[in-house]
Amino acid sequence: MRSRRDVDVAALVDQARAGHPRAVGRLISLVENAHPALREVMAALAPHTGRAHVIGLTGSPGVGKSTTTTMLVTAFRGRGARVGVLAVDPTSPFSGGALLGDRIRMTDHVLDPEVYIRSMASRGHLGGLSWTTPQALRVLDGAGCDVILVETVGVGQSEVEIAGLADTTVVLLAPGMGDGVQAAKAGILEVGDVFVVNKADRDGAETTVREIRHMISLGDRTEPGLWRPPVLKTVADRGVGFGEVMEGLDKHLAWMRDTGELDRRRLRRATKEVEAIALARLRERMGGLRSGQGVEAVAREVVDGTLDPYAAADRVVSALA
Ligand code: GDP
Repeated sequence: MRSRRDVDVAALVDQARAGHPRAVGRLISLVENAHPALREVMAALAPHTGRAHVIGLTGSPGVGKSTTTTMLVTAFRGRGARVGVLAVDPTSPFSGGALLGDRIRMTDHVLDPEVYIRSMASRGHLGGLSWTTPQALRVLDGAGCDVILVETVGVGQSEVEIAGLADTTVVLLAPGMGDGVQAAKAGILEVGDVFVVNKADRDGAETTVREIRHMISLGDRTEPGLWRPPVLKTVADRGVGFGEVMEGLDKHLAWMRDTGELDRRRLRRATKEVEAIALARLRERMGGLRSGQGVEAVAREVVDGTLDPYAAADRVVSALA
């Protein structure tokens, strides 16, 4: 690993803010590699963050996330927005791989310097969702993106967690895929702010729309002042329905601003981020305890029956203090 001195953080941050994609890419690589310079990077970026509208897109493979993301990039670019796209694979510890990279067929946008596209793995070095996704969002935000689209792969628990990092979560479904049921199982209905039934050119789109509307109405979202998620239809590969999707996204952002929800969600995101960093630090320090004080030493005593697990944990915690 390179030392902190090898990275000219101030210059990189300046270049990223000026919109140089390579500088943004290098900063995100620092995040992925947990580079020692990250601390300095985050300190330099902090005053510039908090502007971007973070939009998460989630849904089963093949539902049309990639196509939809491309269409949304076009729509936001049409407004002159600087757009960041982060394709996240919550199941993989490997980043920048061809697998994810190939998924992004954004040939329309690769030459546009106002669009930054990156795929990354979000699984932490220590297992579980790491702080890499929130920090990559922070980089894109600090680099002046007005909108960040976070596309996640596959519907699962970790994906719901990533959805929880966005300001607005778009849940994509398609007719006849049993998506509604799957979404309900995965708990994604609760985190969806805008529902999009893509592939509306296929039979059964109306049924899926009704099914989702019904499932949402069963939730506890009917109190006045609460957000009622719209259920919209698109044909992504033909660009149909995106006026309504953009309207849904705008309305949700306006609603969040009016109700203070935007601030609450950002607080939640920052809380998770700080917690993840703190936990990683604690783990590191636990690993660095002198032998005899570490987790393994006390675990030995637990196995031998000379110490109960609570007393053992107390001993580790006091050794850390
Ligand atoms: P992802 O795996 O969720 O990212 O899905 P993709 O965006 O890669 O789309 C999967 C396939 O569905 C591709 O072949 C798309 O061209 C196709 N597709 C996307 N949107 C639509 C649509 O609205 N209607 C139809 N019939 N096909 C679509």
